[in-house]
Amino acid sequence: MTTHTLEALFERLQQRGGERYTGEPVTHLEHALQCATLAQAAQAGDALVVAALLHDIGHLLHDHGGTPTERGVDDSHEHLAEACLSQWFGPEVTRPVALHVQAKRYLAHHPAYLKVLSIDSQRSLALQGGPMDTAECFAFRQLPHAMDAVRLRHWDETAKRPGHPTPALETFWPLVLVCQRR
Ligand code: FE
Repeated sequence: MTTHTLEALFERLQQRGGERYTGEPVTHLEHALQCATLAQAAQAGDALVVAALLHDIGHLLHDHGGTPTERGVDDSHEHLAEACLSQWFGPEVTRPVALHVQAKRYLAHHPAYLKVLSIDSQRSLALQGGPMDTAECFAFRQLPHAMDAVRLRHWDETAKRPGHPTPALETFWPLVLVCQRR
């Protein structure tokens, strides 16, 4: 599925966003809004707030349906998202999105982190290559925007609170426009 305008992408998040994020107690839209709100609360820059809002849009760009990880399928949603978002945004938005799965592997280097992961997140971690070893962690830290991706990842784990109030999707539209590549 390709999206040709940012408006259409937002519409997709609004429409398909009501679907339950399988394996999690929130919908896709709730997860996205909670993640962006946590980023704002942490005083993240505009680009990182937009990245937080759209980090999982890749799940809504394919039609694997349900919970692909249950069937042993890694949907590569971070790469789908990067390819789509790079139509409109620069690396300050697209790289934290692209790296948020690697950030999980990075954080999982410390076994205590595994406890904060949801069941689906633990299952996908195995499919995504499991925890990074020391050399992989070192290499990851050298990547531009790696630490933004790590910040995003922490909000990502927290943004799964059922019924937690957030601003509506349209309140983030002006921010999205500000971050759009000119
Ligand atoms: Fe997420």
